[in-house]
Amino acid sequence: MSEVRHDWIKEDILAIYNRPLMELLYDAATIHRRHHDPNTVQVSTLLSIKTGGCPEDCGYCPQAARYHTEIEGNDLMTVSHVKAQALRAKASGSSRVCMGAAWRNVKDGPEFDQVLEMVRTINKLDMEVCCTLGMLTENQAKRLAEAGLYAYNHNLDTSEDYYKDVISTRAFQDRLDTIDNVRKSNVTVCSGGIIGMGEKLEDRAGMLVALASLNPQPESVPINALVAVEGTPMENMDPIPIWDMIRMVATTRIVMPETQVRLSAGRTQMSREGQAMCFFAGANSIFAGDKLLTTPNPDVNEDMEMFKLLGLNPQKPFTKISQPKTVEASESQFTSLDEKPKWSGPGHKIERNEDAKQKVKLTD
Ligand code: SF4
Repeated sequence: MSEVRHDWIKEDILAIYNRPLMELLYDAATIHRRHHDPNTVQVSTLLSIKTGGCPEDCGYCPQAARYHTEIEGNDLMTVSHVKAQALRAKASGSSRVCMGAAWRNVKDGPEFDQVLEMVRTINKLDMEVCCTLGMLTENQAKRLAEAGLYAYNHNLDTSEDYYKDVISTRAFQDRLDTIDNVRKSNVTVCSGGIIGMGEKLEDRAGMLVALASLNPQPESVPINALVAVEGTPMENMDPIPIWDMIRMVATTRIVMPETQVRLSAGRTQMSREGQAMCFFAGANSIFAGDKLLTTPNPDVNEDMEMFKLLGLNPQKPFTKISQPKTVEASESQFTSLDEKPKWSGPGHKIERNEDAKQKVKLTD
């Protein structure tokens, strides 16, 4: 029976988020192993193909024209420049290039044609291509699909309730509409959010309700920790504790078991130990490269060293996103876990065979 549920309510998700940490990690890791190879992590390279000058007012974003940040704006990159960057990303282990443009929405015309050409070019390199270009019509989604786009990123950012405190130039429903347009093509959906923007725990749960309610659920869900940039309205926000990130990743894994959970912005503020706990809790993707659009990110060599240390392998391109793993298949990690956790009605407490729990032990 599928573990994927679309009827989550905020209270259930909060109850999961607030579980004793070891219980939360155990349950998330168990579900993770059932659906994914726990030693494989997908690596994407994020490339800003058009930087700055955006008319929107997202409170976290240094690329909004109205904020006084130190971002240097750039016009749309050339196709050859994008190709060179993609080849470099591939050589350093990335299976996907995600191209971001600081636009409110995509406009038909020469610039969109240029992006379509970029998509075709990267596709020929046998890499997955993702774009994040703002709002999109159904027709534009179909044109991107024809060019070979693999995924479209459009984050919900936060809960519907908190959304207006973060962005005023568009509505939460606009985000859902774009995701809906992407779903009408055969492009996969990447949509997640940011924690640490002053939201309540209820908002984190509310965002997960909105994402998990999508049917199908997004193939990829990035979880970002706010990188507070000077000059933006959120410049004085304190960094979130690593425990919040671990809890958020684990909760996301439990409510969206088949999804690729992406450990995204904010990794420079996390220790390797913290990131390792996120991988254990179900994160199975990262962004590589020293910049995430405009904010700092760990150097790719550092990431590959971390992978080596943790015994993780980068995922090959075009690997089926959800690869069900039976518990038996993970026996090198767990022994004698013969009963799956069950979700039991309203409140959805995890029930597990206590004997089985006792028998679980980690091998070397
Ligand atoms: S997040 Fe995107 S839409 Fe919002 S201001 Fe930044 S570039 Fe513009």
